Amino acid sequence: MNDCIFCKIINKEIPSKIVFENDKVIAFEDLAPVAPIHILIVPKKHLASAVDLNSEEDFEYVKEVYKAAKVIATEMEISESGFRIVNNCGEDGGQTVKHIHFHLIGGRKLEGMA
Ligand code: 5GP
Ligand code: ZN
Repeated sequence: MNDCIFCKIINKEIPSKIVFENDKVIAFEDLAPVAPIHILIVPKKHLASAVDLNSEEDFEYVKEVYKAAKVIATEMEISESGFRIVNNCGEDGGQTVKHIHFHLIGGRKLEGMA
């Protein structure tokens, strides 16, 4: 996707603070963190949102996201204290970047859901 900001980050056309990467996903620090730890975990395939997950291959990326989340949370020492994984989908879901991504948020006590 030419004009997708997360594809550009994946392709290293835009710099980011990468904390994890393999062939399926990349994870980097959110530009506007809402907590001491706020990482975005992004599939390397351009899928616009959760409703665009169709094939088994697509869902494989979600599995890789959760595997990466576990590694990152362990490395950042929040696997015991806890954290949140958030996927905003569509306008009402608050999604602003139209490339599926999962927020890994932690490092403080999180309140509420919306
Ligand atoms: P959404 O609201 O779509 O679920 O989340 C998009 C997130 O991407 C926001 O938390 C925003 O701060 C972050 N973001 C947007 N543009 C950039 C960028 O260029 N670099 C990084 N690291 N984060 C970004
Ligand atoms: Zn993209």
